[in-house]
Amino acid sequence: MKTSIATVSLSGDLRSKLEAIAKAGFDGVEIFENDFLVFDESPREVGRIVRDHGLAISLFQPFRDFEGMPEPLRARTFDRAERKFDVMQEMGTDLVLVCSNVSPAALGGLDRAAADFRELGERAARRGLRVGYEALAWGRHINDHRDAWEVVRRADHENVGLILDSFHTLARKIDVNSIRSIPKEKIFIIQLADAPLIDMDLLYWSRHFRNMPGEGDLPVLDFMRAVAATGYDDYLSLEIFNDQFRGGSATAISVDGQRSLVYLADRVQRAETDTALRMPDMPDRSDVDGIAFIEFTIDAEEAAPLEALLGTLGFRRAARHRSKSVTVFQQGDIRLVINTESRGFANSSYLVHGASAYAMGLLVDDARATHRRALALGAEGFSQPLDEGEIEMPAVHGVGGGIVYFLDRDSDLGSIWDVEFEPVHAPVTQAGLSAIDHIAQTMHYDELLTWLLFYTSLLKAHKTPLVDIIDPSGIVRSQVVENASGSLRITMNGAENRNTLAGRFIAETFGSGIQHLAFNTDDIFKTADQLSAGGFVSLAISPNYYDDLEARFGLDPDFTERLKAKNILYDRDDHGEYFQLYSPTFSGGFFFEIVERRGYRGYGAANAIFRIAALRKLLEPAGMPRA
Ligand code: MG
Ligand code: MG
Repeated sequence: MKTSIATVSLSGDLRSKLEAIAKAGFDGVEIFENDFLVFDESPREVGRIVRDHGLAISLFQPFRDFEGMPEPLRARTFDRAERKFDVMQEMGTDLVLVCSNVSPAALGGLDRAAADFRELGERAARRGLRVGYEALAWGRHINDHRDAWEVVRRADHENVGLILDSFHTLARKIDVNSIRSIPKEKIFIIQLADAPLIDMDLLYWSRHFRNMPGEGDLPVLDFMRAVAATGYDDYLSLEIFNDQFRGGSATAISVDGQRSLVYLADRVQRAETDTALRMPDMPDRSDVDGIAFIEFTIDAEEAAPLEALLGTLGFRRAARHRSKSVTVFQQGDIRLVINTESRGFANSSYLVHGASAYAMGLLVDDARATHRRALALGAEGFSQPLDEGEIEMPAVHGVGGGIVYFLDRDSDLGSIWDVEFEPVHAPVTQAGLSAIDHIAQTMHYDELLTWLLFYTSLLKAHKTPLVDIIDPSGIVRSQVVENASGSLRITMNGAENRNTLAGRFIAETFGSGIQHLAFNTDDIFKTADQLSAGGFVSLAISPNYYDDLEARFGLDPDFTERLKAKNILYDRDDHGEYFQLYSPTFSGGFFFEIVERRGYRGYGAANAIFRIAALRKLLEPAGMPRA
């Protein structure tokens, strides 16, 4: 298998696009004509730059409005084609993409189109070039790959083949199994794109909302399995028209693109044992058993109020690192690591972002296998010098430059707490908190898809539909990555502007990261009592919330009173009830949440606006010190 991406998918000028594409590990690049036209160098020079980067030009595109034209338009399209052929030869590529005609002048008719392609194939063959025909979903007469294939079949020319684009096929819900009977040598290239399900005009949807395979909602895997069944083993090429990508970082989008293709091929290979789409072996996606720990970086002075807050939440200092100023606070299965080291990555992270939950440890089956897979998917590895007696925990960089560690039970990593730490107090469950329910990460909206793909390609987890959370100052898009057992739940909030509470968090902590941690309890009322007894002050929720809640769910007034007295928020779905209790914010906007799930599967999105309003009240007037 070879990977390729169209230059149109990225921002910047051609030179910087090529640099990003090469760096991300692609084998080839589709040169989009406009990128070349606005570039100052000759076709020959473009070809040289591409090859200097170790890339090949997988194709040149697009050639529009070709087939089925009446004279004299027909003669002119052939003249145009000859000019493109000149450019292609100078650039050094042999394949041109011809997309189906959208011109009102096009006459239609399979035989007419086939005859045109036969002649074009003849002209291409004289120069050693090939012509690939793609059915646009909005083509005037040809808008279905089955018809495009029929044209190619009737053209019956060695230099004329078919180009399949997952978007055009899947957007029109065309049966992908129709691909299985196409001879592989007639498929000149596969273009891939996913998209979120939005009911809109096909052309607009395609030009603005495509995204990487795995980032959207289309059955791209089914499409690829059908392609794999033909024996096709050449380029998988991304052609992603997306406004956000074209405004984003070419480097980040390229890395996402390469990751999406490697992950897609991995899934095809696991589903179809005898596929010709060979790729380097890598371990399968990992099962996550739970969150092994969350690590905070903080300076010694600020650590005192954080430790006091943890104390009121019922955590006890459980262990101390044997050689570093690192302590573990524990309750139930929850481990919170407080790192006040003045050296190492934690300290650099502190210097940049301030006090923050900068690292998380995922408990998986095989930590080192998970790490290998992450690296194969283009994750950036992380390691730092070890002190004597320390065990190297495999890790990669995650959201906002934070660290994701991998731990398991069966290797030497399983004993890390005993080897590197000395116990201080036996862990207790003073407030009834048993596990981490979810981790909430806040990021810029344009990073959301990156991390969605990161988690879902690495771990056995799925995404849930995007939810809009209304902050009085703007919209925050929220998407969840979770696994079936609920042992992994990450909510990701994408802030579009810096005025929302999420946006403010990013601005104040100089980057994306973990904004809150939610802990489970089996009895929220009991936990709330124990917490108040320990001096915990919960986030005060507006009394109006409870009036509305009572009416909305038809709650018993006594029950509503109990919720109100403890500032507990409530929600319900088809599966059960949900209870939430929040702490005020700590340093830069970080906070804790306590939840009880009685079968409920969501995250209380309907309550977010009330939580945001309550937190805002604490923060205003702006500039006042935080609780
Ligand atoms: Mg295409
Ligand atoms: Mg939450």
